Amino acid sequence: MTMKAAVLEHIRTSLVVRDIPTPEPKLGQIGVRVSACGVCRTDLHIMDGELPEPKLPLVPGHQVVGSVVDLGPGVSGFSAGQRVGIPWLGFTCGTCAFCVSGRENLCLQARFTGYHEDGGYAEYAVADARFCFPLPAGYSDLQVAPLLCGGLIGYRALRMAGRGARRVGFYGFGSAAHILAQVCRSQDQAVYAFTRPGDVSAQSLALRLGASWVGDSQQKPPVPLDAAIIFASDGALVPAALRAVDRGGAVICAGIHMSDIPSFPYDILWEERMVRSVANLTRADAREFLALAARVPIRTEVEVFSLEGANDALTRLRTGRIVGSAVIDLGGRR
Ligand SMILES: [Zn+2]
Ligand SMILES: [Zn+2]
Repeated sequence: MTMKAAVLEHIRTSLVVRDIPTPEPKLGQIGVRVSACGVCRTDLHIMDGELPEPKLPLVPGHQVVGSVVDLGPGVSGFSAGQRVGIPWLGFTCGTCAFCVSGRENLCLQARFTGYHEDGGYAEYAVADARFCFPLPAGYSDLQVAPLLCGGLIGYRALRMAGRGARRVGFYGFGSAAHILAQVCRSQDQAVYAFTRPGDVSAQSLALRLGASWVGDSQQKPPVPLDAAIIFASDGALVPAALRAVDRGGAVICAGIHMSDIPSFPYDILWEERMVRSVANLTRADAREFLALAARVPIRTEVEVFSLEGANDALTRLRTGRIVGSAVIDLGGRR
């Protein structure tokens, strides 16, 4: 059997839509008919060769929604027809120092969907069942897809900001930030949205979602922030965010790749401000966030593309022309 997939043959080339063999679930894996797959900036970093040694040829995509069609040997806890999500974290060893201390996001042998393993820019996908999740009802397949990276990893970043953070800034108001803004509002946290200069559509989305203030990334917010989360990949935002946070405030870099951070004077870090990164996700993060998403609820703003339109979606994401999240529609709706 063959299926249609968008394939990265070599880094720094466009995806090619072609027929490839339909993957069959091996030991511990489930086979999924994909219905939707979110598009993430990380896909661009992989395609651009900014992340080392991707599987090639590769089917990208790590926000995969579909229904179970096949169970490999040894799989329990899933049944045919069930809706599942396949996120970025695809495998951990379970035995390294990080895995055994509740930090499997840092596992030395971690493998990631749509990077080391084929992902969801295809009609079918297989994944290790232990890393797949049932998804909250009340979301369509297209609307739930962006929760699987923008939501999950964004939520981990928001937690790093600390429960006490009342004023939270987002640098880059795309997929993750528009999801998290809704989580913040449900927890009575005020949102400050920083966008590329003059990005009126992202700024008006932020205002619609209840942001207290919107501005350009080099602007100072009207009040000092308790925390700032940087989703954009521009290292120059780190000193800008440090200048925007109050004493004791945290600046969290949530992207997997960032350009070099320019040097900055010590006094913008002084007074116990801190800078940290957030890497990947744990399965506990996923369970916690998906339970929260069932309660909030979050309304994702999605722009839908066909599989043939995947390159268009990626180009528009690169040039900042996606409002909310881009999602590829793979059709297989139940
Ligand atoms: Zn992602
Ligand atoms: Zn490990």
